[in-house]
Amino acid sequence: MLRTPTDEVVDFDESLATLIEDMFASMYAAEGVGLAANQIGVGLSVFVYDCSDASGANHVGHVVNPVLVSAGGEVDADYEGCLSIPGLHYDTERASYAAVEGVDRHGAPVRVVGDGQLARCLQHETDHLHGLLFVDRLRGRAKRKAMREVLATDWA
Ligand code: ZN
Repeated sequence: MLRTPTDEVVDFDESLATLIEDMFASMYAAEGVGLAANQIGVGLSVFVYDCSDASGANHVGHVVNPVLVSAGGEVDADYEGCLSIPGLHYDTERASYAAVEGVDRHGAPVRVVGDGQLARCLQHETDHLHGLLFVDRLRGRAKRKAMREVLATDWA
């Protein structure tokens, strides 16, 4: 499921609203800062987030059919983890600034822009919806170390 690119949402009905509620509940239960629908077994292009930007301001929301329209600034290698890869964290290179465009659960356009943890989260969650995991972004020895540790987990 996590390796399959998700499908575009075409029905903006009550089941989409319920999915988003379930995703927030799952994210908060796991004390995460972001969650993609395919992490709870639903192959639709939706993510939710609750994280801070570099100024410390908090951002909470959801994006349906998100597209990473811009990612730039400096490349930061910082601590990153994933609720679907429990217990493992690696310094992962991400653009320090990111912008995502999509729609909300009613189909109205939304744009989420930010730096800091929010930028990292926007890149991490849009990757999920394309079937990519953060360990895929690692390179060289760091990637080999991560793959070894992932394979050694109970759930691999
Ligand atoms: Zn993740």
